[in-house]
Order: sequence, then C-alpha cells, then structure tokens
Amino acid sequence: MKVFSKIILLKTYLESEKALGRTIGFVPTMGALHEGHLSLVRQAKKDNDLVVASIFVNPIQFNNPDDLKKYPRDINKDQAMLEQLGCDVLFAPDVEEMYPDPITKEYDFGPLAMVMEGASRKGHFNGVGIVVKKLFDIVDPDKAYFGEKDYQQLAIIKKLVKIENLAVKIVPSPTVREKDGLAMSSRNERLTVEEREIAPFIYKSLQFAKEKASSLNPNEIRLLIRNQFKDQSKMELEYFEIADDKELQAIDNWEDAIGAIGFIVVHLGKVRLIDNIRIY
Ligand code: AMP
Repeated sequence: MKVFSKIILLKTYLESEKALGRTIGFVPTMGALHEGHLSLVRQAKKDNDLVVASIFVNPIQFNNPDDLKKYPRDINKDQAMLEQLGCDVLFAPDVEEMYPDPITKEYDFGPLAMVMEGASRKGHFNGVGIVVKKLFDIVDPDKAYFGEKDYQQLAIIKKLVKIENLAVKIVPSPTVREKDGLAMSSRNERLTVEEREIAPFIYKSLQFAKEKASSLNPNEIRLLIRNQFKDQSKMELEYFEIADDKELQAIDNWEDAIGAIGFIVVHLGKVRLIDNIRIY
C-alpha cells in the first residue's frame, strides 16, 4: 500500500493511475478503524480498480474540543489493517496540509442540516461538507463509500454532491454491528467495561421502536422510548426521533413518509453514541 501525507504527491500518483484508465473508489475516515470501516473498503475493492482510504481527524467538524482531544488515534494499527485488506492507497495528511489558510466557506444544506445532528452540533455538517469537498477535489474518485450508521451525514454528502455538481457516485453501506447489536464505532473504545455491557440497550430500543410501528403512531413510540431511557441511570438520551428517510424531517403519521427511520443519540459516561434503524 502506498502512503501519502502530501496532497501534491497523492494527486500526481492518482493522475498517473487515471491516465491508465483505472477507476478509483474512495473511503474517507477519521481512523481508529474497525469492521465498519473495513466493510466500506471491501465494497470499494469489489467495485473499483484502485481503492484510496483517507485518515484525517477533521478538527472543524468537532463542536466539542474535549471530543476532538480524546478521539482515538492509532495510525500504525490502521495502516496494518488497510494493508492486510489490500487497500491500494492511504492518504493521511496533517491539519496544516489540509487547512493552510483560514476557513470561511459556509454551506447551506437546508432543512436537512437543521435537525438532529445539525441542531445538536453547531457547525458540524459545515465542517463535514468542507473536508469531504476538499478530499473529493484531491482524490477525484469515481465512487465514494459512506456508512448508513451516520445516516444524516450520508444525506448531507448526497446534498453536497448536488450543490457542487460533482460527478462522484455516493455508495451507501449498511451499519456493521457487534454480536450484541451495538453499532461499531471508534468511540466505543472509550467506553468502560461497565458502560460497554449496557451499550447494546441502544440498538435494542431501536428494534423495540421498529416492532411497535405496526400498532403505535410515531408520537406514541417517541414517548415510549423516552420513558424507557428514564429508567436507565447510566445512560442519557439526547434525542430519539422518527423522520422521513430523505429530508430527515420528523413525522407525526406513518402516511407522511414513503420511508421512515428511527434516529437515536445517547450519552453513556463521557461518550456520545449515535445509531439508527430503518422502520420501513
Ligand atoms: P468515521 O471514521 O467515524 O468518520 O467513519 C468513516 C466512515 O465509516 C463513515 O462513512 C461512517 O459512516 C462509516 N462507518 C462508521 N462506523 C460504521 C459502521 N459501524 N458500519 C458501517 N459504516 C460505518
């Protein structure tokens, strides 16, 4: 696997590969890789001649400085995992390389960016939009792979592609879970043993919400889930929402949306965990 930290060197290399007619699949990550990330790389390998992964802990998408400081980093382990999978290229720039100048860009992603993660984490999606656009400019991939675990982020990226008229095809990939249902996440590393034991409750509550959809309306389910979390002393529910699967706006009746998703964010100790489930 070729490893680059400088934009110009990566671009030069990829241009020579493109000149040979090779297609490029791109998997952007923030590192601390797990099976969720690797599933994206595997899919990218199936679909493309060349796979580029990036590892960059993007400071401008963190609204909480402590979360940025404590974000797990292990580039050597990540590199070994990617190498073993047969990833062709790793791009791992530092902050100065990505942001040599002050950042002024402001995206308008519309209502999509005003709910849930957009409402809870001010500036988060703008930071995501800026870094992904920059990475797309550098790598110029044919296809780029994003996990459904961060469903709202995936919707934002699709919107970014429209706003910027990009040619890249966005490929969504299903959430990879631990055996007990907990969605894999780099942040899981920060859970204590006790927290890790109770963490599967998050996905269980999403499954419960889905089960109830045949007999209850969205508001009744919201109430039910909120009440469930009131009994959990170690976990704090930040939000549970049921929204349409396109613009991610809350729905009050099942007839209001062609597809609906349950979204959840929970604080477990010092860790903020996100998950979602397709209801229909
Ligand atoms: P991150 O490193 O957290 O920024 O994630 C990089 C990419 O991996 C994003 O597209 C995520 O949605 C995706 N991802 C993270 N966790 C999972 C998972 N458990 N299953 C599938 N994709 C994931």
